[in-house]
Amino acid sequence: MTRQPAHRASQPYRATRLAFMAIAMAAIFLLDTATSYEIAGSVFYTVVILTAARLLKQRALIMLTGTCIAITLLSFAMTQQGDYRAGLVNMTISIVSILITGYLVCKMEAARAAAHDAQARLMRISRVKSLEGLTTSIAHEVNQPLAAIVTSSNACQRWLAQHPANLDKARQAVERILNDAGRASSIIARVRSLTKGDPPDKTAFAFNDAVQEVLTLSQGEMLRGSIALTVDLAADLPRALADRVQIQQVMGNLILNAIEATLPVAAARRVIHVGSRWQGETIVFAVSDTGIGLPSGVREHVFEAFWTTKEEGIGVGLSISRTIIEANGGHLWAESNDHAGAVFAFSLATTDKEPA
Ligand code: ADP
Repeated sequence: MTRQPAHRASQPYRATRLAFMAIAMAAIFLLDTATSYEIAGSVFYTVVILTAARLLKQRALIMLTGTCIAITLLSFAMTQQGDYRAGLVNMTISIVSILITGYLVCKMEAARAAAHDAQARLMRISRVKSLEGLTTSIAHEVNQPLAAIVTSSNACQRWLAQHPANLDKARQAVERILNDAGRASSIIARVRSLTKGDPPDKTAFAFNDAVQEVLTLSQGEMLRGSIALTVDLAADLPRALADRVQIQQVMGNLILNAIEATLPVAAARRVIHVGSRWQGETIVFAVSDTGIGLPSGVREHVFEAFWTTKEEGIGVGLSISRTIIEANGGHLWAESNDHAGAVFAFSLATTDKEPA
């Protein structure tokens, strides 16, 4: 299945939008030049820039912002009527708001591009199909702060367009924008930390926090599949001693396999249980599902490279997962679930001999 990138509009639609933008810019220029200095028509260029966010690449957005500023200056020079000082203030406010909007739109585009980049590299060891689902969850997460940024930008624009401009409210809107941009970039930073494919770099880490991060990423996929998730994480686990990022890749792969195994059964019976426990001197992580289960006699085959029962499967996820867990000093195994489905579990060494 091919998909059009979500952040770029289709060609005819794009051409129409670009034509409308050009007309809108010409209209704003005429309005700004023909009316008196007191009317800050050029502030509407910010709307043009916001509209262009989904149509143009970063370089074109920077050029558009520059063009808007240039024609704002031009129409100021050509305006004949009104109070010159008021015109100067209005022009400064317009240019500042055009600059802020251009900057934020470029940041948004950069964040969107980073999210796409991270999506493309996320969970290398899992299959392309699973990857799609998971990355959709991330896009969904990143989309929330981006949508909030657009809302605050619109509000900011309205406060600046008032006469006189309400600079306090505009400043508050810009603060909200900065907070949301920070949120978006921290989501991307977290995704990036999942995508590195380095050799084991063993450190002590809070195991359940790592589980929660992976669950957050896979939640969208579970929701879409109407799968109920139950989680039971032992509260008193000692810290795990392993490569956190690699362990999260394995967790993600087991969860995605469980999702795929569960989808063929009736929606009401789709349940995935994720648990952690302290057993002997190791931490045990297990994903149980009520899916199609493992046919008898194949339990060990599933860990062989290129062994798959899925039409679009590659059959490498579990073999790589086992290699990773063993490289980190643990074990990965499969069991049948008591009633239906399968259980995949791994053990890992901890920093302590006793629970914390
Ligand atoms: P792929 O998912 O590409 O087939 P994997 O190595 O991840 O590759 O899995 C190999 C096979 O193991 C799958 O094709 C499937 O038959 C089986 N399998 C993995 N996880 C489960 C599960 N939770 N329930 C039932 N079968 C599973």
